[in-house]
Amino acid sequence: MAWKLDLRKLKTCCSNTLSSLSCCDLCGANVSNSVLLGYSLPQALLCQYCINDLPYFNQSIIAGNLLNWPAIHRALPHIHFDQLFALSPYIYPFNKWLGQMKYLGRFELAKLFSTLLCAQWQAMAMSKVIAPIDLVLSVPLHVKKWQIRGYNQAHLIAKSFARQLSLPYDANVVERVKNNDSQMGKTGNQRRKNLADAFSLQKKLASHIKHVVIIDDVVTTGTTASEISKLLKQAGVETVTLVTVCLTLPNVKKSGVVVA
Ligand SMILES: [Zn+2]
Repeated sequence: MAWKLDLRKLKTCCSNTLSSLSCCDLCGANVSNSVLLGYSLPQALLCQYCINDLPYFNQSIIAGNLLNWPAIHRALPHIHFDQLFALSPYIYPFNKWLGQMKYLGRFELAKLFSTLLCAQWQAMAMSKVIAPIDLVLSVPLHVKKWQIRGYNQAHLIAKSFARQLSLPYDANVVERVKNNDSQMGKTGNQRRKNLADAFSLQKKLASHIKHVVIIDDVVTTGTTASEISKLLKQAGVETVTLVTVCLTLPNVKKSGVVVA
């Protein structure tokens, strides 16, 4: 009959339309493709206007290392990593996205974060000589936590970051051997005690590995990455760079200005 729908045609039509149309996650504008420094953003999650309007730290002022900012350096005492690279303070929209990835399973955001990190990293690398990266790691979850949650968001971001920059990534170098209490609400000293002996190296590192990048989604006191850095340095690594989507220091404001 004439009015009968051809389901196959309808399906094809719908999927073609859906794949060519996408809405910006922030402003709802239609986007087909967004590009950032040559990186195509996944599923065109953001329009070009919103990409340019994201609240990044001003990497040129700090030469790509937030530890060059005295207020941040003071807020992160006793750390064993040498450089800290973060996209943004823990503010909108990154705080919303990180929550959606962690609690609502929006895994496509891992690709968005890694693409933004790669683009910012490349922009910084173009203006500064940085030691070649020999290995990318992520902050591991204890196996029990991984089983309950089903994924490790730092691992998802790190894997994608390494793939886009053609760097070696190994998820099995560091293991979390202690299933600690949550770090939330603890002071830096309490966090260090809580994390003592929480990690172990599962492999002997090759002698050429001198610069390691550790990826995490959010850094608060830096204690977790610092404990891993300590182990890496004991194993012969010379430089550890911590790369994170957000930094949550209380005195870091949206403008990227740090209030001491
Ligand atoms: Zn937009």
